[in-house]
Amino acid sequence: MRIIVCVKQVPDTNEIKINPETGTLIRDGVPSILNPDDANALEAALAIKDSCPDTTTVTAITMGPPQAKEMLKDCIAMGADEAILLSDRALGGSDTWATSNALASGIKQIGSYDLIFAGRQAIDGDTAQVGPQIAEKLNLPQVTYVRSLKLNDDCLTVERALENGYEIIDVKMPCLLTTIKELNTPRYKTVQGIMDSESADISVWNADDIGVDKHTVGLKASPTNVFKSFTPKPKGAGVYVSGGSPKEKVQILLSALEEKHVI
Ligand SMILES: Cc1cc2nc3c(=O)[nH]c(=O)nc-3n(C[C@H](O)[C@H](O)[C@H](O)COP(=O)(O)OP(=O)(O)OC[C@H]3O[C@@H](n4cnc5c(N)ncnc54)[C@H](O)[C@@H]3O)c2cc1C
Repeated sequence: MRIIVCVKQVPDTNEIKINPETGTLIRDGVPSILNPDDANALEAALAIKDSCPDTTTVTAITMGPPQAKEMLKDCIAMGADEAILLSDRALGGSDTWATSNALASGIKQIGSYDLIFAGRQAIDGDTAQVGPQIAEKLNLPQVTYVRSLKLNDDCLTVERALENGYEIIDVKMPCLLTTIKELNTPRYKTVQGIMDSESADISVWNADDIGVDKHTVGLKASPTNVFKSFTPKPKGAGVYVSGGSPKEKVQILLSALEEKHVI
């Protein structure tokens, strides 16, 4: 069984700071990590490999700058068999649509696969679009927000988280699943894995290698543009209304709103 895991290198913070002039992320001084939801995706793939080690291959794939190799080494240190970096100036500045074009082409280039994992969401871009877009472009069934999964031959039974519950879905492979943190606890890198990762041969593929149409990747091909990015001002402290009956509390709230001329 071949499992592909889409992994993204992200800044190690969810307090993203934006350069107000350029509207781009300020990455200086912020260490990079494997996107947290992707660590859950990788753990899910590795758990399947644990159950059938001789017949399972786990491949981590990312699109990013050359330094994303470090994150791919972490994936190998956790237990991935191989890692692929899609890196090319032609891919730079891609929005989610263009990113998923590149990743779908990279996955096609890998060839056959049974299961693709992506995280639900990256903590920097935060759109949760890339996984579903890859599934669409590869014409695969997809289940998002997966919080548990069970493998039965060529089919998976998964629980998909909803706002106030979950649904159980049977999905045939090949398919794409996006994972959330409730799915599992990602394993630590092992000492042997760290040593192996240092000498691991990470494949680097450019746009020509993956055969992607260059009119569908990169900044110019991206159909979405960021007009304005800003860090919201922190909200002031709230007021907690305690004591009294519900009616009295409502009265206090109404008076406070009237005082501020909200009502
Ligand atoms: C309107 C808009 C304009 C943008 N413009 C630019 C720009 O000009 N320049 C620029 O650099 N960025 C730009 N971005 C950011 C860039 O598009 C995203 O970083 C990228 O497409 C991934 O989207 P995301 O971070 O929202 O990932 P999500 O969709 O939240 O990620 C979900 C999952 O998809 C997978 N995934 C996502 N990205 C990758 C990846 N690169 N490699 C492997 N797996 C991945 C991971 O499994 C991840 O957990 C823009 C984003 C938007 C929304």
